Amino acid sequence: MKRRPAAELQRSYKEQRVLKEFMSNLFLLDLDELLQRFTKQLASLFHAEIAWVRLFDNEGKLRSRAVAGDKAIIKLLPISEVGKLVGRGKWMLEKRKPLTIRDMARDRARPIHSSIKACGLHGFLGAPLFDRDQRPLGVIFVMTRRPRHFVKRDVNLIEQFANGAAIAIDKARLFGEVQKKSKEAGEAYQAKSEFLNTLAHELRTPLNVIIGSLQLLVDGFYGAITEKQKSGLEMCERNAYDLRTLINEVLDLARVEAGRVPLVIEDFDLKEIIDELKSSYMDFCREKGLELKFRLEDSVPKLRSDKSKLKEILLNLLANAAKYTEKGEIEMRVRCSQDEPGDPDRARVAFSIRDTGLGIKSEDLPHLFEPFYMAEGVDRRKYPGTGLGLSITKRLVEILDGEIQVQSEWGKGSTFTVFLPLAHSS
Ligand code: ADP
Repeated sequence: MKRRPAAELQRSYKEQRVLKEFMSNLFLLDLDELLQRFTKQLASLFHAEIAWVRLFDNEGKLRSRAVAGDKAIIKLLPISEVGKLVGRGKWMLEKRKPLTIRDMARDRARPIHSSIKACGLHGFLGAPLFDRDQRPLGVIFVMTRRPRHFVKRDVNLIEQFANGAAIAIDKARLFGEVQKKSKEAGEAYQAKSEFLNTLAHELRTPLNVIIGSLQLLVDGFYGAITEKQKSGLEMCERNAYDLRTLINEVLDLARVEAGRVPLVIEDFDLKEIIDELKSSYMDFCREKGLELKFRLEDSVPKLRSDKSKLKEILLNLLANAAKYTEKGEIEMRVRCSQDEPGDPDRARVAFSIRDTGLGIKSEDLPHLFEPFYMAEGVDRRKYPGTGLGLSITKRLVEILDGEIQVQSEWGKGSTFTVFLPLAHSS
């Protein structure tokens, strides 16, 4: 067996170590720092006077992004020059392969830049860079003072580095685009929420005046009215109330979506909330002939969260359960949920509100938490609504770092489950 000389083994070991280090930094460092380190490593690995990365900018011009090596030579290089694709770079990107030149001064096909000539650089090894869709990103190359015959193994090595660099550049560009898009989307969202907020305020004030005046009319404050007039006015009153509910919910949604809901985190006992929920819904359910049950398991400890937001979430879900159930029962169960789907290490508490009501069709389930979504096939005279309650509830759950799930069968009933961390991370 032919043994490799020790120096060669050592070189090979160093190459692998540098390559591994470069790859492990790919996702940690920002692009400029990564390329800076990368060129330094290339220069040292190839014992080259210069290692250089040039990339296309947004206008398709080739610009220097990182250069390393001999400082005296770097000073003389045309680093700030922005150029079209010519010479060696053009060749590599068009042929889509690495290029080695023993002596650039003797390469008639690709004339040498005067300043590179002035630096006294001769040997050249470079590789083109492409993104995942095979579009050109730029070039990397090393240059040596002495003419050098680069061998196949050098070409392989620079190709491996080029692949790594292309991934890093691609990733950085994608990340930049995503950041820009999400900033734009965030701004549009904010503007929409603010518009809704203003609009709802403008509507609510006159509507309150209308409701007040209608009540006075119905109560006979402005003089006696006939039964017919009374029933007409009552219809106006009912519609005005519905409109006010809608406006209030739009305002609520705008408020939570614009992030205008400061968190008040405190320790509290869930018993306190359950007692308050009981007193809000017991009478309503009894009158409707529904049984309302609460089960708080002993293992559930104190919670550290925003109490009033949690109460709003549970009130919304209980209100829906009571509204969409005609007979049977409603049960709210609270338990610890380490074994639930999600992160197994994080202790959570699960609130399940189960009813024996209308149920929800499977085709409606994916849309339930969208603003203004109301399930098909439900008699809306009997069950009026705005379709906003669940979207507000979901946003509130998310603000508390939680998750909401629903299971339901049409005609049989529904269970909404809210998972919250035992302690909010703030
Ligand atoms: P709203 O009740 O005002 O219409 P929600 O956002 O609270 O708005 O609910 C959206 C839709 O989800 C409702 O219109 C209803 O069709 C359905 N829904 C919500 N909760 C229940 C439930 N417990 N049982 C049956 N359907 C429900």
